[in-house]
Amino acid sequence: MPNPEDALDKAESQSIRIDRRTALKAAGAMAALPLAGWIVVDPARVVTDPPIPVVPGGSAPSPADWQSLAKSLTGDLLEVRSPLDICRTEPGSTRAKAVLENMKNPFFLEEQPGATHTTGWIGAFDAAVSPRAIAVENAQDVAAAVDFVREHGLKLVVKGTGHDYLGRSCAPDSLLVWTHRMRDITVHDDFVPTGGDGTGVPAVTVSAGSRWLEAYDAVTNHDGRYVQGGGCTSVGACGGFILGSGFGALSKRFGTGAGSMLEAEIVTANGDVLVVNEHQHPDLFWALRGGGGGTFGIVTRLTLMTHELPKTLGGFMGSIQAKNDAAYRRLIERFLGFYRTHINNPNWGETVKFTPENTLELALIFIDLPEDEARRIWRPFLDWIDEHASDYERKIEIVSVPFKDYWNIDFWLENYPSLIQKDPRKNQPKSQFWWKTNDSAVSEYMYGYASRWIPLESFQEPEALAGTFFDASRHWNFKFYINKALAGAAPEAVDRDRRTCINPKVFDAAAWILMQASDTDVFPGVPGHEPDRRKAEDLAKRVAAGIEVIRKATPGAGNYANEADYHEPDWQEAFWGTHYPRLLTVKKRYDPTGLFQTHHSVGSEP
Ligand SMILES: Cc1cc2nc3c(=O)[nH]c(=O)nc-3n(C[C@H](O)[C@H](O)[C@H](O)COP(=O)(O)OP(=O)(O)OC[C@H]3O[C@@H](n4cnc5c(N)ncnc54)[C@H](O)[C@@H]3O)c2cc1C
Repeated sequence: MPNPEDALDKAESQSIRIDRRTALKAAGAMAALPLAGWIVVDPARVVTDPPIPVVPGGSAPSPADWQSLAKSLTGDLLEVRSPLDICRTEPGSTRAKAVLENMKNPFFLEEQPGATHTTGWIGAFDAAVSPRAIAVENAQDVAAAVDFVREHGLKLVVKGTGHDYLGRSCAPDSLLVWTHRMRDITVHDDFVPTGGDGTGVPAVTVSAGSRWLEAYDAVTNHDGRYVQGGGCTSVGACGGFILGSGFGALSKRFGTGAGSMLEAEIVTANGDVLVVNEHQHPDLFWALRGGGGGTFGIVTRLTLMTHELPKTLGGFMGSIQAKNDAAYRRLIERFLGFYRTHINNPNWGETVKFTPENTLELALIFIDLPEDEARRIWRPFLDWIDEHASDYERKIEIVSVPFKDYWNIDFWLENYPSLIQKDPRKNQPKSQFWWKTNDSAVSEYMYGYASRWIPLESFQEPEALAGTFFDASRHWNFKFYINKALAGAAPEAVDRDRRTCINPKVFDAAAWILMQASDTDVFPGVPGHEPDRRKAEDLAKRVAAGIEVIRKATPGAGNYANEADYHEPDWQEAFWGTHYPRLLTVKKRYDPTGLFQTHHSVGSEP
């Protein structure tokens, strides 16, 4: 019997970048590489199939046009297929099993131009594959791709990591600009934006395809500083995350990722390569700080301010179970009152989950506080629980580690190996890992996903807010994030974020909540992995009903686009508030014909 491990290794070696020589040999022989998600198009070969439709008024590129594009690139023109094709043609085979195993690995997905992290969303989209992609290697390749798309009237899609929840980095019948190979990172002691006055700050420049793990490795592991990114190690550090604001676990201390942006290099719709910052093209620079990925152009590199590294990182984890509904309401009310006065501040981050089983699940972090101090802060709340021991059961655990080890794989493997997953494939960078808690987001299919900022002022009436949370929790569980709202954030972080285009409602919001129902291992169109429609529709309804309770109680509270409902009502107002008209003006200035279009992005109205 074939060993599945061997098949997996084979699949990996075939999915790793095919070098030019191997690829040229393989050109035209897609069938010989059944597990590879792509092959390089030989610039000497005539390209005709599959055709990519053009928009009205466009002119389909001729084979000669494709050849001339391929020749002009430092990178490659690719023919792309879904890595899941083998699971459709040979379901149940050892090779199909090997691919399905790899689909649980975020870094494998990112090496596939034909894969995305979210495999679909009931009633919204199924992940799609662009028949052709340009694996760009520099800004000139990106400009060549943009010119080609504009001149021929093709649909353009841009992908870095493919992490987008809303399916905005994939589209059928499109030409994909795939930035995965652009992963240079440079750390600066004293970065001065072009056109600036000579006063520099510590910073890091990340190229378009870089992931947060790589940025943290450079900035924290090697330079002893902090850059505000995301918690998930495989999310892009230069794409949709920052361009869509980007909240990390420490955003109450350091603000959004966009707030730390000092400069960007961007290819705009007319093919120009612009360097933008507060001195050059300040309107576009402002729009890039939160106006959304895939909207104003293709960013080829970003420079982000770095910050002094916190000293310690604490985890405050556990659960509090209420024994009946009335006790749960009181618990929620008590927690919300405590939250406002004790932990809505720059030392705290992450989540409390409110469940239909009348439980609060705590998964919080704290920085630069000794464990004893964290205990002392929570004492009034925990004492109250203990005084009502007949109503509640609680389990709390507190740990603290040196902050410098946050992204040090050796530290986690030695001390808390169950928290991380090292990339199990051969020949991968030694430091490549993801948090086990992110397993549920890899190849994830959405049933329901909806979110909302919770205004600080609603905490003034904890009883009413507790009633809202209790009622919402009857429909489905939801997570309450400390760190994805900015009322209570450090003043200097708020100052930076006020210069971005994030919806100003964020400054009035003390927390953000996310209600989500999803599954992994669901791949529309793959036998044995189709979504269970009945389950999907049931869960979608529950999430819709739950979020409706919250929306009604928080009129005008707003949200941010990257982690929002695909069907977000009144999305322009919800995502950008009073900034939307100005964002639309910038969009029209730099992309007058709407070359860059994604779902619910600035200027995407029909
Ligand atoms: C597991 C997981 C965890 C997450 N955690 C957080 C979190 O903690 N905080 C948070 O704020 N968000 C989080 N997100 C959401 C994340 O911010 C968005 O999914 C974001 O769009 C990802 O950007 P990307 O470039 O990595 O992904 P992609 O899917 O490659 O791109 C996303 C969007 O940006 C565009 N884009 C990509 N590269 C470029 C470029 N170079 N120039 C212009 N446009 C580009 C794409 O066209 C697409 O529209 C998380 C997502 C996942 C899947």
